[in-house]
Amino acid sequence: MKSCITDTFSQEVIALAEFWQKRANELMGPEERAIQEMMMRMLSSPLDKVILTKMMDQGFRSSSYGRVADQINDLMRTYGIPEFFRVSEKLLMRLFLSMGRYVPAISVPKIIEKMRFDSSRSIIAGEAEALHRHLQMRRSEGVRMNLNHLGEAVLGEEEAADRLKTYLEDLQNPEIEYISVKISTIFSQISSLAFEHTVKILMERLSRLYRTAQSQCFIRENGFRTPKFVNLDMEEYRDLDITCAAFTQTLDEPEFKMHSAGIVLQAYLPDSCDIQIELTEWAKKRVVDGGAPIKIRIVKGANMEMELVESSLHNWPPAPYDNKLDVDANFKRMVDYGMIPENIQAVYLGIASHNLFELAYAANLAKHFGVGANISFEMLEGMVDHVRRAIQESTGDMLLYAPVATRDQFINAIAYLIRRLDENTAEENFLRHSFNLKTDSKAWDFLKDQFVKSYHHRKIVSKAAKRSQNRLAETFLSKRSFGAGTFYSGEFTNEADTDWALGLGP
Ligand SMILES: Cc1cc2nc3c(=O)[nH]c(=O)nc-3n(C[C@H](O)[C@H](O)[C@H](O)COP(=O)(O)OP(=O)(O)OC[C@H]3O[C@@H](n4cnc5c(N)ncnc54)[C@H](O)[C@@H]3O)c2cc1C
Repeated sequence: MKSCITDTFSQEVIALAEFWQKRANELMGPEERAIQEMMMRMLSSPLDKVILTKMMDQGFRSSSYGRVADQINDLMRTYGIPEFFRVSEKLLMRLFLSMGRYVPAISVPKIIEKMRFDSSRSIIAGEAEALHRHLQMRRSEGVRMNLNHLGEAVLGEEEAADRLKTYLEDLQNPEIEYISVKISTIFSQISSLAFEHTVKILMERLSRLYRTAQSQCFIRENGFRTPKFVNLDMEEYRDLDITCAAFTQTLDEPEFKMHSAGIVLQAYLPDSCDIQIELTEWAKKRVVDGGAPIKIRIVKGANMEMELVESSLHNWPPAPYDNKLDVDANFKRMVDYGMIPENIQAVYLGIASHNLFELAYAANLAKHFGVGANISFEMLEGMVDHVRRAIQESTGDMLLYAPVATRDQFINAIAYLIRRLDENTAEENFLRHSFNLKTDSKAWDFLKDQFVKSYHHRKIVSKAAKRSQNRLAETFLSKRSFGAGTFYSGEFTNEADTDWALGLGP
């Protein structure tokens, strides 16, 4: 792209981010202030994050109330009652530990209800009436909604069929315009070893979704009629190629030539850059041939912990970048490429971030190129709603990603809640510093510095995949090897497993 971006440009981005932050502070309501204070209490007591994670992860797995009560009792006695709890919550927890745990059929549903209530800003109740009320409220605020039924990686085909049915019902619901779908929820046996078979099954299921979406119409608040929209979320690295193949091959079917759909790319994967180019070239050809544009939502990536666990289990290098500077730089590089006018005619962009500098960067770049109509700003429901309102005020647009779970599905919310907890607390993340954030503070300077550094780094950050493998050209150090492993200075190291997502050779 032309070197339109000068230091004046970065100064303008910083000015816009500052403007939004100040406006968001003005808009913040008492409830939002209370949540921010609670988050600050949690950050000042790192053990609290461990307890909360264990409570969500361990505490509520069982369907037996007695077992849940035992787990909570055990956690509280091992780690203590979290410091960030309000006085009234600490009192209730003491009451539970002394009496409530002996009557789990009464106390445990109350705890679950309380957790559900506390997370109801970010996880919308999926019961018909509650969901209807929420959608109506957002509609009256001019917010477009993107619904996601929480839950991932279903274990069996029965559950996959249920999930598919729910998505189809969503698409037929006149109140729902847009849904996000994880491929791991519509097929339970995704396997890189059976790549073509997996893609074939996903194509059948995606076809049902796209067919329903294109047969339905949503009428926005301003009377504008639009076809329904299905976006594929991006999950783990191992599913990246499968998700892209299922997406493009389904849309290549003649019946979907005129149908628009979306996919997510994660900037924390260096691989995403070249995939964005491939998808864009494919979409440009599709549009030249008279087809409909597609959409890419650019995110940074929320499954870092999962990627780290997976790679350590198999002796692989982690697939994402190992530092935030590279991730932020790659995000901007992808935004730069996506905004080039001939690209954005074929691939609309969703800019999904809670980092005001990223949003301001995209807003100013879109203004520069005059392509604002082809981008949408996307945030998560309930994360920083005052910031959402500030941005919507000035851009007039907001697509809010709304995770939904009914009471019975609340167990599905656990992974999502833990990802959000990570996003709110990881050292370098914007949200960690966003509580009570003032634009004349050290925290703001730290975030601004992150932006400036990554802005200058965006053209040089490496695009090379972090994980590669060539099983067809391997050298084995036979004299030093023992079984499948290798001795390095006397230390045994396992041979890395084969990563079937990469194939055997280059
Ligand atoms: C509408 C919407 C939809 C989303 N859909 C998806 C999706 O489909 N798939 C998905 O994976 N995520 C999704 N996300 C989450 C997203 O990936 C980001 O994790 C999240 O929004 C934080 O990025 P940020 O730009 O807001 O904040 P920032 O604070 O600027 O960035 C935080 C991110 O930087 C990266 N990071 C932080 N520290 C390090 C480090 N030390 N090393 C390497 N990387 C680091 C991580 O990716 C982390 O999430 C979505 C987010 C939104 C708002």
